[in-house]
Amino acid sequence: MSDVLKDLQPGKVFEYFEAISAIPRESGNEKAISDYLVNFAKNLGLEVHQDAVNNVYIKKPATPGYEHLPAVILQGHMDMVCEKNKETVHDFEKDGLKLFIDGDWIKAEGTTLGGDDGIAVAFQMAILADNTLKHPAIECFVTTDEERGMTGVANMCPEYLSGKILINIDNEKEGEFIVSCAGGAKAYSTLNFTKEPVCEGSSVSKITINGLKGGHSGAEIHLERANAHILMGRVLKTLSKKGTFQIVKVEGGSKDNVITRECEVWVATSNKEQVATVVNEMETIFKAEYAVQDPEIVMTCEDVTAEMTVTEAMDAASAQKFINYLLAVPNGVMGYAQHIKGLVETSLNLGIVKMEDDCIRFASAVRSSVVTRKAEILARLEAVAQSFGMAFEVKGDYPAWQYNENSRLREIAVELFEKMYHKAPEVTAIHAGLECGFIAEKCPGLDMISIGPDLEKIHSPEERLSISSTRRVYEYLLQLLENLAVY
Ligand SMILES: [Zn+2]
Repeated sequence: MSDVLKDLQPGKVFEYFEAISAIPRESGNEKAISDYLVNFAKNLGLEVHQDAVNNVYIKKPATPGYEHLPAVILQGHMDMVCEKNKETVHDFEKDGLKLFIDGDWIKAEGTTLGGDDGIAVAFQMAILADNTLKHPAIECFVTTDEERGMTGVANMCPEYLSGKILINIDNEKEGEFIVSCAGGAKAYSTLNFTKEPVCEGSSVSKITINGLKGGHSGAEIHLERANAHILMGRVLKTLSKKGTFQIVKVEGGSKDNVITRECEVWVATSNKEQVATVVNEMETIFKAEYAVQDPEIVMTCEDVTAEMTVTEAMDAASAQKFINYLLAVPNGVMGYAQHIKGLVETSLNLGIVKMEDDCIRFASAVRSSVVTRKAEILARLEAVAQSFGMAFEVKGDYPAWQYNENSRLREIAVELFEKMYHKAPEVTAIHAGLECGFIAEKCPGLDMISIGPDLEKIHSPEERLSISSTRRVYEYLLQLLENLAVY
């Protein structure tokens, strides 16, 4: 084993970080690191459990004077995203990471560092191994497969945990406390159609919307950018009021969690000039509406009659339903949280519109930090689908971590932070999923917070972990455990 980090403080944290960096641990390949943690606990004489999906649970008793307090769960994930530069030769199944120090940063040569979330594992190991600390009973809960879809935590065994307080160590910003996350689901609606012949003498116009900024449907939904599907619905609706046309082909977005940047629809028409005029008019309208948040919207209308032989189109009744669905379907921000300024509480994004031979499939990614509001949005989507006679289905449900008005842990953590650093921490929530959502569902009533040291450019070969921040956050964590005496 190398000892690149041997002179850094806190010594145990960096020693363990280096040790686990030598063990390949890509999501889905966690058996070795999981077994390593089990052996680590056994060597310390601690109670340890490993479940069917290789999650590890290690228990350390309370120190004297802390026996009456509820146990504290320390939580993080053992797996990492494995990305490398093209020129780097590295086998993520066999090779350990090659760590190096660059000023205040730890990096890995040409690969991701796995600071996300290896630093949580190192913190947990250091706390388990240190008998000079003061703390309530500790339960280290180290999960697998967080990065691919949280299947580790989804299959956790809550019976191995008895704690009432949980500190998640998977945040990448020192001084920021996450206290809530969104839950979500994917809602699928399907519109079946039949085909009818294209009217004699029609030409085919291709309507294109592009130039949109798009973005992530969780992290960027509050920017209120345009969604190309929704814009296309408005264009087609306007067109349908002016005259008749047939829908030949639709190409939209393909990822439910991406705000759609492009949409193309081919229409058969006897009046291509009218189509072009409407497209022009709508472009002007959209440019005005989105001048601030999406100024590069471009709409074009091309006569493509010469390029394609078109004999069939969608039946007229279904085409009308398709257009009306794009207008009726709720989309975008549905509400902001009241306890944290600027936080989106509930949103959805129509990310997928896919035409197949006899149907069009729609998928919206729904998110909310409030369980009942997610249910409400799903019910609205179902209602819209039903009213158009469309099939409806929900998949990929993941739970929220709801904001806790009366979190004693948050109070203690904030007070301690202010005392140590003479400034207020940033207490915030994210409009995306975290493992805490699953844990909240499996272990109701847990008082939770998410913290971590500064990590930058995670999930990329440029990933780096701040040494000084790691030291401060570890000191803070130890102090927080000690201060839980007043919980
Ligand atoms: Zn992570």
